[in-house]
Amino acid sequence: MSNRTFTMIKPDATSKGHTGAILDQIIKAGFSVKAMKWIHLTTAQAGEFYAVHKERPFYGELVEFMCSGPIVAAILEKENAVADFRTLIGATNFKDAAEGTIRKKYATSIGENAVHGSDSDENAKIEGDFFFSGLERF
Ligand code: ATP
Ligand code: MG
Repeated sequence: MSNRTFTMIKPDATSKGHTGAILDQIIKAGFSVKAMKWIHLTTAQAGEFYAVHKERPFYGELVEFMCSGPIVAAILEKENAVADFRTLIGATNFKDAAEGTIRKKYATSIGENAVHGSDSDENAKIEGDFFFSGLERF
């Protein structure tokens, strides 16, 4: 089991000024930041990142949303990082998310759900490598 995961604070949350509060909650939950950047994705970059969802009906909406404003991308470290981070952020649909989770607090729809969290160790590695070079992480 890997001890790293990858996250993005999505454009809905950055534009509403929730970046600081979300990072504070992540760090207080025991994650340490191993890489971080503030970046505005192009349509092509967002499309490539979410290519696994290409056939889903919401793909176009998702890509448009993810490049509608800046995001914060980060690699996080903690024991059992992938599963613990998914617990911290809550269900994809904030209506189903547990009280106190990041999505419960900051999401406003199933699409505009404040944060991304990798769903496996394999994808955490792929996603971290998509955003960060060796020089940009430790
Ligand atoms: P993420 O990968 O962003 O952490 P997730 O793993 O909980 O989210 P996925 O099934 O991977 O959920 O969906 C990726 C993203 O696509 C969701 O976080 C959400 O922003 C968007 N999305 C998922 N389902 C829908 C839907 N039915 N309508 C609109 N957007 C959706
Ligand atoms: Mg996912």
